Amino acid sequence: MSMEKFNLLEECKDAANIFISGHIRPDGDCVGSCLAMYQYLRKALPEAKVRVALEEPAEVFRCIRGFDEIDNTYTVDGDVDVFIALDCEKSRLGAAEEIFANARKRINVDHHVSNERGCGDVNYVVPGFSSTAELVYGLFDKQYMDEEIAKAVYIGMAHDTGIFRYSNTSPETLRIAAELIEYGFDFPELIDETFYEKTYAQNQLLGRALLESIVFMNGKCIVSAIDKKTLDFYNATSKDLEGIVNQLRITKGVECAIFMYMTGNLEYKVSLRSCKYVDVSKVAAFFGGGGHVRAAGCTLNGTFYDVVNNISKQIELQMKEHAEESKETDCL
Ligand code: AMP
Ligand code: MN
Ligand code: MN
Repeated sequence: MSMEKFNLLEECKDAANIFISGHIRPDGDCVGSCLAMYQYLRKALPEAKVRVALEEPAEVFRCIRGFDEIDNTYTVDGDVDVFIALDCEKSRLGAAEEIFANARKRINVDHHVSNERGCGDVNYVVPGFSSTAELVYGLFDKQYMDEEIAKAVYIGMAHDTGIFRYSNTSPETLRIAAELIEYGFDFPELIDETFYEKTYAQNQLLGRALLESIVFMNGKCIVSAIDKKTLDFYNATSKDLEGIVNQLRITKGVECAIFMYMTGNLEYKVSLRSCKYVDVSKVAAFFGGGGHVRAAGCTLNGTFYDVVNNISKQIELQMKEHAEESKETDCL
């Protein structure tokens, strides 16, 4: 299904109250998209009251203008005329879901294949696009762009593409990135400080996850988990675990990487990544989650072994299908 761009300023022109939010446990694309949208609308529609709400983002994103104005109490004063949901569908809005439900008009911009139809009255969902930030940038009237908005968009795009190296990076992604760096912000510093730099505890957790990882299915799968005790020991949250699954994925010979951490008693948040042919969004969707073809997530109940068994069954099905298909094409 193809979805057309819409006229953002036209859709918001009569709105006195605009509310922007994104998914729970916000990542770089979510924070970048929301703050780019926030800055842009404040500038383009100075009469409107624009608010942005998110669960507390990682401190590294403080370099984006508007970071301090993010409301993590989700306070609403008065009616919301336009709600803009970015980088997710409504069920991942967390505390903002109710505000979304009561808003007069709902706009949804996203790139998750698991949200193909969109959940708003106005939808712009393009699966396969690098990032929501890239989609959001496409909606902006260039006359309102400035260096700080460019920086927010760039962070979103850079984070969701693993710094422009995952397969979701298109020629257009790179053309836009080129346009953005012309605004003059210090992009090498931005990349180091928001993406590569790790705290000592984050590196320790990465080290432990790698050390304790297990390969299976003839080395085609790799799994690792961090339990509650370890998280508590390092006083760590989900923000400290970013990047671990990506490091697991680039293990030579691996097609599919699974990283999980305990979110409760017998409850795990699972991150999935694949390299070439396993569609992990399907695996995650099977367990009520979602995401992209090469990066997806879900939450599962059970012991570590239950979770690994359940997930790997779904992966194995796809691997078998792939093996059959390869055999068929080999015979041609
Ligand atoms: P993660 O490994 O949690 O960072 O997720 C990888 C990708 O899948 C990100 O783009 C997430 O936004 C998305 N994702 C993770 N969990 C879910 C979920 N439960 N439903 C839909 N998408 C998800
Ligand atoms: Mn995201
Ligand atoms: Mn995204």
